[in-house]
Amino acid sequence: MLTFDDDGSAALGLEGAYVSRSPRKMKTEKTARFEAGNAFRRISVEDKRIINCQADVNQLVPFKYKWAWEKYLAGCANHWMPQEISMSRDIAVWKDPNGLTDDERLIVKRNLGFFVTADSLAANNIVLGTYRHISNPECRQYLLRQAFEEAIHTHAYQYIVESLGLDEGEIFNSYHEISSIRDKDEFLLPFIDTLTNPEFRTGTKETDQQLLKSLIVFACIMEGMFFYVGFVQILALGRQNKMTGAAEQYQYILRDESMHCNFGIDVINQIKLENPHLWTQAFRDEIKSLVQKGVELEYRYAEDTMPRGVLGLNAAQFKEYLRFIANRRCHQIGLDPLFPGAANPFPWMSEMIDLKKEKNFFETRVTEYQTGGALNWE
Ligand code: FE
Repeated sequence: MLTFDDDGSAALGLEGAYVSRSPRKMKTEKTARFEAGNAFRRISVEDKRIINCQADVNQLVPFKYKWAWEKYLAGCANHWMPQEISMSRDIAVWKDPNGLTDDERLIVKRNLGFFVTADSLAANNIVLGTYRHISNPECRQYLLRQAFEEAIHTHAYQYIVESLGLDEGEIFNSYHEISSIRDKDEFLLPFIDTLTNPEFRTGTKETDQQLLKSLIVFACIMEGMFFYVGFVQILALGRQNKMTGAAEQYQYILRDESMHCNFGIDVINQIKLENPHLWTQAFRDEIKSLVQKGVELEYRYAEDTMPRGVLGLNAAQFKEYLRFIANRRCHQIGLDPLFPGAANPFPWMSEMIDLKKEKNFFETRVTEYQTGGALNWE
């Protein structure tokens, strides 16, 4: 028989023994909340805060941040798995000596070289870092979904590498061996290290700013900029009917990532709203210089992956595109544009991001993915 007791005191009918021990059994963090004697007060919405919250994080409801719960539901509704997408046409194109040009092959390999490790970095940043510091259960619920999506993305890239029979050692070590990829990751690592450091705690202006800075780097620069040259390149291949399986995988990944980015921006703005003292002029200037640096790194990556014009794309278009995206990210978190007047040279990307799940842009798959909740049992 299962027992919940170590000492048997509940079985003795001791008044309060069960309730006083129950929270102790389930405690995972912030033990002081229970020991302060407030374990039995029901949580109200007003108790909830996005960081440095003292209310019980084990209770999902009442919801305060409905945008977080809605994104969790949307993420689940968009569920997909890499193996659902056929790679047979890609394999035929890759094996055909005339299937792709050398420049196109370089794009595919550099692309995978960045992405095969990027989503692992993202997953570790969420699970080992961000999750601990966001003290709100509905946001954590989304972060758990996001972490699984990062795993699906890593799976998708591995599936492409395996399908095409690429040299795994070459692709998975690109982030050590290719400088334009390594430089992007080295830019990110200090911010990931801040959040994953087991000694790091929020609760002071300085540490809360460190958290906010890391969240901005992750959402606006990593997920919001560093992925986009790669997305445009592979989706441009797909638009020319090449590597359509890989392009479809990237299309689903892009949809997920744009939601990750938007969730991160919602979190950032909520932290700003609840902690306006963090958003100083000096802090804003630092963020702008980081975004500027991010644009430079991603542009260097564009040049390295595309030394000549290919697929109707050229490096100058990417400079404009990155400036356009940087402005958008700045606007989304309440900063002035860094590059006034920059225009989007790839308007078709918006259509890709707004993909409805019943629409399959590359027509490599005929059926819609249905989540459990959408199944018809009749
Ligand atoms: Fe992501």
